[in-house]
Amino acid sequence: MDFSFNDEQKLLIETIRAMGEREDFKQLAADIDARAEFPHHLLKKYADMDLLGMTLSPEYGGGGAPAINAILAIEELAKFSPMIAAPVFESNVGAVRVIDLFGTEEQKRAIIPGVCRGELSVSVCMTEPEAGSDLTSLKTHVVEDGDDLILNGQKIFISGGGEASHYLVYTRFGDIMGYKGIGGIIVERDMPGFSFGKQEEFMGLRGMPSCELIFEDVRVPRKNVVLEAGEFSKLMLTFDIERCGNAAMCLGVAGGALEEAKAYAMQRRAFGRPICEFQAIQFMIVDMAMKLEAARLLVYRAASGAGQGLPSVYEASLAKCFANEMVVEVTNAAMQVFGGYGYSRDFPVERMMRDAKAWGVAGGTVQMLRITLASFLFGRRFDQRPGK
Ligand SMILES: Cc1cc2nc3c(=O)[nH]c(=O)nc-3n(C[C@H](O)[C@H](O)[C@H](O)COP(=O)(O)OP(=O)(O)OC[C@H]3O[C@@H](n4cnc5c(N)ncnc54)[C@H](O)[C@@H]3O)c2cc1C
Repeated sequence: MDFSFNDEQKLLIETIRAMGEREDFKQLAADIDARAEFPHHLLKKYADMDLLGMTLSPEYGGGGAPAINAILAIEELAKFSPMIAAPVFESNVGAVRVIDLFGTEEQKRAIIPGVCRGELSVSVCMTEPEAGSDLTSLKTHVVEDGDDLILNGQKIFISGGGEASHYLVYTRFGDIMGYKGIGGIIVERDMPGFSFGKQEEFMGLRGMPSCELIFEDVRVPRKNVVLEAGEFSKLMLTFDIERCGNAAMCLGVAGGALEEAKAYAMQRRAFGRPICEFQAIQFMIVDMAMKLEAARLLVYRAASGAGQGLPSVYEASLAKCFANEMVVEVTNAAMQVFGGYGYSRDFPVERMMRDAKAWGVAGGTVQMLRITLASFLFGRRFDQRPGK
């Protein structure tokens, strides 16, 4: 077992830290939140640094790096803000990975090089108004029409919605019920019949495009099928790498909050001394570090186990669930260390707290992850539907 970073990983972390300092990413994070504007200008910069698609296949312009490298980059960037990390997340652990792993040659050539250059992006489209955790009840469906599929349905909460060039849509094929009828197809932004609903107003992750997708008789060529009906389990397996990315966002946000809280505790004075000299504050900081380090080990283990492929479902679920709860606890404690200023928008920890809350819902709730984990621990599946 080796817990150390290799030279390439150390250089990656140092390069990102130096960029963050040089380009004042702390201020950028505050500006993104205040204006709720996605930092598009970072795409070109990240592409030039080979951060986009660093884990994707080299034949199509990717870097061929192991998943753990992307996880380290996401964590480092998310210390400033998840929005600053978002392009690296999307291009390495997002839906484009499904295309990289399971797409056709034509799909890979059409999409992956553009993702690596920061010109294209792919959103994952699963959730519907009445199918979130209960994903296998989704109603969006396609019917065959010659060489095409006709798509109808609706998706909600789609990150990148309205801005992404491509959408990996989880859809039912015909009227096959349950998970056996679900596969994945690529829908392009300008396809007739495809439109976007209102942009979501979330409490955190301000600046992240997110909206409803509406499909009205969208004609999708058959060549856009990535996974056929019956290949739902492959779709979900690939999603576990996205879960590691989600957990890395939590490591970053918590790490940023811990740094802010430590710095503040050393300069804020009460009763004639810096508050870091009070044991209550020391213990809060120590507990934050302890929880963060424990989450880090789980996330790194899951991502390292993935290599160039996919992580274990058990390890990824454990890591995401723990990291999702850890980041809420750590950012909450950071606000407390800041006292009244923690509640003020003049300081970053309240933003970090707002951003922290998203991850335990996005990518599968902590409750649903526990159901998956219980299946592993008991060695049997627990069907959630009544009467089973
Ligand atoms: C910031 C953000 C980004 C997102 N991005 C995307 C995206 O890009 N693409 C996408 O497809 N979706 C996205 N989502 C949607 C997300 O995946 C869903 O919100 C999530 O899966 C939960 O579904 P739901 O909101 O319908 O909640 P529900 O499924 O209605 O759940 C409500 C509550 O009931 C609990 N619950 C439900 N069933 C059970 C059960 N059997 N046992 C115990 N508890 C249960 C849940 O844990 C939750 O607490 C995003 C959401 C957020 C907040």
